[in-house]
Amino acid sequence: MNSVVLLDAAVVTRCRRRVHLEHDPGAADAPRAALDATTQRRIADTAAHRRSVADRLAEHHGADWVEVPPELPAEQRRAATLALLVQGVPFVWGGLLPADPSGGRRGGAELLVRHRGGYLPVIVVRHKVTDPGSGARTSPLTQPVLAAARTDPQRKVRPQSRDQMRLAHTLRLLQAAGLATGGRAVGGVIGLEADVVVWYDLDSPTWSGGHTAMVEYDARFADRLAVARAAATGGQPLAQPSRVTECRSCPWWPTCGPALRASRDVSMVLRGVEDTRALRAAGVCTVDALAALDPVGYPAAPMVGMSFRDAVWLARAWQRDLALVRRHRRIVMRRADVEVDVDMESFDEAGAYLWGCLLSGSDIGMPGGYRAFATWEPVPTPDEARSFAAFWSWLTDVRSRAAERGLSLAAYCYNEQAENRWMLSSVERFAGAPGIPTAAAVREFISSEAWVDLYGVVDAEFLCPRGKGLKTIAPAAAGFSWHDPEAGGENSMRWYFDAVGLGGGEPDLAQRARLLTYNADDVRATHALRLWMSSERVNDVPYAGDL
Ligand code: SF4
Repeated sequence: MNSVVLLDAAVVTRCRRRVHLEHDPGAADAPRAALDATTQRRIADTAAHRRSVADRLAEHHGADWVEVPPELPAEQRRAATLALLVQGVPFVWGGLLPADPSGGRRGGAELLVRHRGGYLPVIVVRHKVTDPGSGARTSPLTQPVLAAARTDPQRKVRPQSRDQMRLAHTLRLLQAAGLATGGRAVGGVIGLEADVVVWYDLDSPTWSGGHTAMVEYDARFADRLAVARAAATGGQPLAQPSRVTECRSCPWWPTCGPALRASRDVSMVLRGVEDTRALRAAGVCTVDALAALDPVGYPAAPMVGMSFRDAVWLARAWQRDLALVRRHRRIVMRRADVEVDVDMESFDEAGAYLWGCLLSGSDIGMPGGYRAFATWEPVPTPDEARSFAAFWSWLTDVRSRAAERGLSLAAYCYNEQAENRWMLSSVERFAGAPGIPTAAAVREFISSEAWVDLYGVVDAEFLCPRGKGLKTIAPAAAGFSWHDPEAGGENSMRWYFDAVGLGGGEPDLAQRARLLTYNADDVRATHALRLWMSSERVNDVPYAGDL
């Protein structure tokens, strides 16, 4: 019975309840969401990245390189892979290893590389795997073998636990099939940069507690296997739902969400698994139990994600179905004579294609209202430099005119991380192009008092049981609504795809207009929210200490 459970590498970094649901025959008809557009696009982008790496390697290695046909059914792919490995083919791409029923594993790696009579796994991922620095063990992309690895003087490893877990999983499969190399557990990763292979020694004690990636993997895998086997055989469930970050993108949320709400589970108001675990261990399992505690008394459990007082206040706000409550009796919102609301739109990692700005306040001899600085050439494109330079030049002009008139200025965005990241990335990527500022100029601006992160202000002033996203807070607090009923980050990606004709079709001008309306509404939302925060109306929101 147990042997029917075969788990992929992904289970070791996945929610335990999800592993349960995916193996519980009773959950086969439970509600599940379809893959969201962002996830679908990421899957497609990763496949394209892998294809491009494969093509480059195949061209370089000729007859030493064999690809297992991806269109074959899984069983045939396994058989074909095994035959190639037994023959000793130096590089096998797209291999699926023989399943390991007793170990409960299945899987493969993008590349299997012959090494000392056995094979090492090399996986290809679409995220960064190194940072500037030194000390990583790397080999050139065209020599993806451990024998060519050197200590890299220009790169240090950006440790990616998920990659290490996948390599460990593949190594255990190779070992089970008698195809592993003896000696230390080693595997390689080709990242987004796709310029080198980064080699991990998975037997190094680099994990917290001084243990190795292999030890970590074995412990996690044994746990997930027990969860899956219990679910598959109708045993006592070993994992219960608990709200975690992964829930946001998990297909099982339509099943877990209502269950958690119905049981008034304490995780509904907490941030992070540690706090949930600590409170449960202290016997505080529901929102109501948490709300009944004294917020300024001795904490029921040590908290790391938020203060104990905030947790109790959040629980009380959740009980009353409030979208937000005040942390302080008096709300502080910084205002200025001249104000600019800024919102940037980017397309994944490819580029920032639109900077939208809403100018308001005292007259500085420039037209007020909304304006957009955009490129409609598909990103990545050098035309992004032009639109960013135009945005920066306009913002600099606004700042100069305000300063010349002795007027104070504030520019607002909602969650500065994205805007800051793309401003800094733009000056780096387009250095020397006309109108591109220096990195120092951008740093000076984003670290100045004039640049205000409204998300940070909301975080400091309110507790928000339903989340602090602009789409949640601006309607609930300031009564703001977006023109487009489908307005949202994920949909905007789809609109952008059509707006610039990424699928190969004609650019859809209606979708461009839709994106501009969406962006204009976003900056109007931050504008409305901060006006509301500096008005008397904000006092209609209950003060948490009064609940
Ligand atoms: S919705 Fe959340 S709790 Fe449920 S399986 Fe997914 S990640 Fe786990």
